[in-house]
Amino acid sequence: MTQTVFPFGGGADHSDPRQKDKAVVGGKGANLAEMAAIGLPVPPGFTIATEECVRYLADGGDFSAALRDAVSAALGHIERAVGKRFGDAADPLLVSVRSGARVSMPGMMDTVLNLGLNDATVLGLAATSGDARFAWDSYRRFIQMYADVVLGVDHGLFEEALEIAKEDKGFYADTEMEAEDWQALVDDYKAIVVAEHGAPFPQEPNEQLWGAIRAVFDSWDSDRARVYRRLNDIPGDWGTAVNVQAMVFGNMGDTSATGVAFTRDPSTGERAFYGEWLVNAQGEDVVAGIRTPQYLTRAAREAAGAKPASMEEAMPAAYAELARVFDLLERHYRDMQDIEFTVERGALWLLQTRSGKRTAKAALRMAVEMVGEGLIDERTALLRLDPMALDQLLHPTLDPVAPRDVLTTGLPASPGAASGRIMLDADTAEAWAARGEKVILVRVETSPEDIHGMHAARGILTARGGMTSHAAVVARGMGRPCVSGAQGVTIDLAARTLRIGGAALAEGDVITLDGAKGQVMAGEVRTIEPELAGDFGTVMEWADRHRRMRVRTNAETPADCRMARQFGAEGIGLCRTEHMFFDAARISAVRQMILAEDEAGRRAALAKLLPEQRADFRAIFEVMAGLPCTIRLLDPPLHEFLPTAEADFAELADATGYGIEHLRRRAQELHEFNPMLGHRGCRLGITYPEIYEMQARAIFEAACALIGAGAAAPVPEIMIPLVATRQELAILRALIDRVAAEVFAESGCEVEYIVGTMIELPRAALMAGEIAEEARFFSFGTNDLTQTTLGVSRDDAARFLGIYVDRGIFARDPFVSLDIDGVGQLVELAAERGRAARADLKLGICGEHGGDPASIAFCEAVGLDYVSASPYRVPIARLAAAQAALSASR
Ligand code: PEP
Ligand code: MG
Repeated sequence: MTQTVFPFGGGADHSDPRQKDKAVVGGKGANLAEMAAIGLPVPPGFTIATEECVRYLADGGDFSAALRDAVSAALGHIERAVGKRFGDAADPLLVSVRSGARVSMPGMMDTVLNLGLNDATVLGLAATSGDARFAWDSYRRFIQMYADVVLGVDHGLFEEALEIAKEDKGFYADTEMEAEDWQALVDDYKAIVVAEHGAPFPQEPNEQLWGAIRAVFDSWDSDRARVYRRLNDIPGDWGTAVNVQAMVFGNMGDTSATGVAFTRDPSTGERAFYGEWLVNAQGEDVVAGIRTPQYLTRAAREAAGAKPASMEEAMPAAYAELARVFDLLERHYRDMQDIEFTVERGALWLLQTRSGKRTAKAALRMAVEMVGEGLIDERTALLRLDPMALDQLLHPTLDPVAPRDVLTTGLPASPGAASGRIMLDADTAEAWAARGEKVILVRVETSPEDIHGMHAARGILTARGGMTSHAAVVARGMGRPCVSGAQGVTIDLAARTLRIGGAALAEGDVITLDGAKGQVMAGEVRTIEPELAGDFGTVMEWADRHRRMRVRTNAETPADCRMARQFGAEGIGLCRTEHMFFDAARISAVRQMILAEDEAGRRAALAKLLPEQRADFRAIFEVMAGLPCTIRLLDPPLHEFLPTAEADFAELADATGYGIEHLRRRAQELHEFNPMLGHRGCRLGITYPEIYEMQARAIFEAACALIGAGAAAPVPEIMIPLVATRQELAILRALIDRVAAEVFAESGCEVEYIVGTMIELPRAALMAGEIAEEARFFSFGTNDLTQTTLGVSRDDAARFLGIYVDRGIFARDPFVSLDIDGVGQLVELAAERGRAARADLKLGICGEHGGDPASIAFCEAVGLDYVSASPYRVPIARLAAAQAALSASR
């Protein structure tokens, strides 16, 4: 039998490494053992390992005899260390019982304090402490907590009873209650337990203890714990540990206190003790906010202009000891610590330490300063940062203290915050924005036709669509906050009104989006602008030094390219040219091209588009100043370009001379049932070669013009989408080479370029060896590759994917984080077969996964040359790529 109950403190042996392993004893247990081992004052106790929780839940709620024996032996350890016995009516040992999973899960399970009190031991506590008031107050607190946490009795009932008791006495504060008042309240509380629970409050300390252990184990499977785990990607099979520890009392008069402290400021990162404390109080008083906690340091108190003495002033000896402990803990853990402490009659006790949660800004500052102090090295600093948290720094964010009236919640599709007037279509959004109004585009879902409205809007809200729906992908690319798939939104376009959650609103009303949380709020909520301070730059420099993979961006406008370069992009990994086609000024020519009856008609329309495309590419090449630019030729199904509105048909009729009925029939002919599996990608280039010819010409002419103007020569990488066979690529590569030769002959200028393909279809991955003979590079289009491998529509999956993730069928949304087990195999296999056929094949990823840290780690493992992410994800990708390289080289 392996040991599953570990005593700590009070002279226990801490040499077993399993006792410092969070996977075995949970975070709290590991840190308690560690603190005791380095000689810090920790009340003695024991930890029941997480595997007992897993076993208990699997066995249908039974405890083994071995566990019962081990717990009673460990209880003996506490009794000997403290010199009191559990249940001893004369001088009782009291314990606290707390949960402690491998990672902290705040709010999953409350604490039970003062366990071991009953009608007899309360008298013993009164006698030994010399304070009957304290003893009865402790007993009533225990009944309330135990009844709430273990027996499931609503704690509000106890609070009500306390209020009534005070009212009867004419008291305002708990501090006015005397011993006999608390004693009377204990009777009321016990009556509440009988009424609500159907049985008396358990008097037997061992029964109390096992009840609390059972409640901690059960809490692992509570609804709120499940939700927390899902939101934080915590596996369901970890289980929680239980920590049982001798009580120390912060509420034994004015030489006692309790507090919560951080070794550095968790919101700014400043190296200053930060925290709160309360004289004569128990831990939960600080947390519950019943009394206003006081400042820890004199400096903090003076800065706030507050009156009540700081701990530094009121308890100088205990404070000096605390400062010594802070220093010791930081040097031991080499990280900012979040500490709970209690002072019992002048003596300091530590109840918990853990790496403190911090804002992204504080995380950067601490990382940089700790490296400067020699506490950690660059590698540790980089590995400790959460890449996704950088998002907080790059977008305007909502002021955390501003009140929020949340109307509904959807998917957190693109981070950042924005307030503005609701606009229900793209044209209206653009018109209002042109007048200087801040607008939020609200649609059932967006399509490429909405691009101009999305650009004009500060934020985007859709009722449908997942994390890689059109709205989500485009919004992330543009750096617009977006909430997608908000099922609480219903729109009445005819009436220009909508409902969001329970609220009835109309176009023009103001709402606020929090794209990082997926929240939709009424009215305007204050925001704070991002500030890219020096620490950000320092950390990015370190990341660049340690990463192997290059980081490019997915961008198709000069403004996005410029922003991506500011964020450190080293090239374009995906320029989606279709968005240029949807430009309001061009869409008519695009439609003329599509609806043309023959090649001549198409060429006439394309001739109008050529100068526009040339100008697009030139502007992008200029910004990218010689960096590699992967330009993807037209990809979306023609279906998406078809006119739908009356006015569009009328305009086309004018432009082409065809009758409206004729155009309608053509549009009908082009309608597709499965456009994503239809006439799109390279199939367009094969069937209408003149489209790709025009695009290739525009690319080469733009490059030549730039070189002619003396600017840095771009390196175009022309990318063919949705290839399934080698022949498709061979045909289109020949077409591009031919156009290149023509342009170079006409202009007398030569440009270096390469042709490659996206790997977006399982067949392309399987046939990668053959395809690589025609391709100089592969870019993994993992959005389509996920869609086609899983057979799950990226635009419609939101309806069931949430349930799939909830039920653990997928660990995470596969459109957000690459399905490494499945889709990952295809990526790995294609990379291997491609490189076997062509040793210098360049490999990259341009699906949304290129900005997801877990997927980036996989890309490092497979040996890709670069990842490409939307501009705001570039810094995230730089850090994640460094972490991946550092972890791989360990
Ligand atoms: C992809 O499929 O992963 C990709 C990048 O292309 P798109 O998202 O434009 O289909
Ligand atoms: Mg694709």
